[in-house]
Amino acid sequence: MTAHFDVAIVGLGAVGSAAISHLSARGVKTIGIDAYYPAHALSSSHGDSRLIRLGYFEDPSYVPLLQRAYANWRVLETRLREDILTITGVLQIGKPDSKIVSGTRKSCNLHDLPVDTLDPDEMRRRFPVFALDEDEIALLDPQGGYLKPEAAVMGYLKLAASDGAALHFGEKVTAIEPGDNGVTVVSDTGRYSAGKVIVATGSWIGELVPALRDHAVPIKQVVSWYQPVDGFVTTPQRMPVFIRDEGENGSFFGFPSIGIDGVKVGRHAHFREPIDPNQPNPPVNERDTHLLDSFIRRRLPAAAGVRVRSTTCRYTMLPSEDFLLDLLPGDKRIVVASPCSGHGFKFTSVIGEILADLALDGDTDLPIGAFSFEAMERFLGARPA
Ligand SMILES: Cc1cc2nc3c(=O)[nH]c(=O)nc-3n(C[C@H](O)[C@H](O)[C@H](O)COP(=O)(O)OP(=O)(O)OC[C@H]3O[C@@H](n4cnc5c(N)ncnc54)[C@H](O)[C@@H]3O)c2cc1C
Repeated sequence: MTAHFDVAIVGLGAVGSAAISHLSARGVKTIGIDAYYPAHALSSSHGDSRLIRLGYFEDPSYVPLLQRAYANWRVLETRLREDILTITGVLQIGKPDSKIVSGTRKSCNLHDLPVDTLDPDEMRRRFPVFALDEDEIALLDPQGGYLKPEAAVMGYLKLAASDGAALHFGEKVTAIEPGDNGVTVVSDTGRYSAGKVIVATGSWIGELVPALRDHAVPIKQVVSWYQPVDGFVTTPQRMPVFIRDEGENGSFFGFPSIGIDGVKVGRHAHFREPIDPNQPNPPVNERDTHLLDSFIRRRLPAAAGVRVRSTTCRYTMLPSEDFLLDLLPGDKRIVVASPCSGHGFKFTSVIGEILADLALDGDTDLPIGAFSFEAMERFLGARPA
């Protein structure tokens, strides 16, 4: 006999693990299925650290969701009795008219969020690891910091299991079949009946959601870790997390020395280099490491010691670089979640709540109107051919 669940969650990365935990905590009978294992190297949810900040330069409309996300991260920590979120402040560095700086200021003004403006002299005094050009400034978001992705995924799964969720790893879902009496989830080793299904399969989302096949594009990202030359100035107490505008080279981000590997630096890039999610990640190449090496030497000289390691991770980009969180047009029992576009991790604590609302009630009070299939179609329609 096919086992029946109220909600099946396909994909247990950052998004699916948060969703199954929120649902299980509400007493819902859930099953979660993942093709691999928690926070594996082909997922988008590994690599020690993820940035979180409140004065969102991308768009001020994200701020209410972020406020809820912060609250939900603290709930997760309380339930786990473990630190997931560390506040270091986040520095957003660039010329005053760069999107990173002007967008942060706009968000902070609109939502009345605290922010400090630091000129190069003040940066040298307060945060000597950073080298600024004389025409640059830094905005310090005092509520920014970093999250531990592996611990968050594991933590949500642990709570879900203790609330009664069935968790299956090493099992790939091959089809989702809507029927009159529920939805059947078919995997390479079993079949499960569910009232509702949440699809949160990261860079593989197009395989199970044909409507996203051409629009959710996996790309590679490269990050490297460096042993600092001066370990004193790169501790989380002395070096905030940062994002930095580098003009035509795009933007870079980085973290203080959190673990033994040292300072981590990445470049938000590779947007025109789609990858096949079923192949191993493309290797880190010399151009990638050259760009990161030269960035850290110029911009964080005290951190630019030996490059200890580099790794690739995956973004799943949507056309508008926003998220998609919606019921599947044509079958409202299926909830689709593609909230990456390179900046989704910090939101996953609230996205889990949103997906639980959508699966149980078909709706949510949280503001997600911009993340619908309709909004995506509108964006595509307005885009120049
Ligand atoms: C280098 C890098 C840096 C980033 N930095 C930040 C940051 O600083 N701040 C921030 O907020 N965000 C950041 N992001 C984005 C963020 O990490 C992602 O948005 C988030 O991790 C996406 O999680 P996910 O659950 O959607 O995907 P994943 O973690 O990839 O999870 C999807 C899961 O689905 C499973 N799956 C796929 N297909 C199937 C199937 N058919 N059957 C069963 N299981 C399946 C996979 O095995 C996988 O475990 C970064 C991403 C990268 C790569």
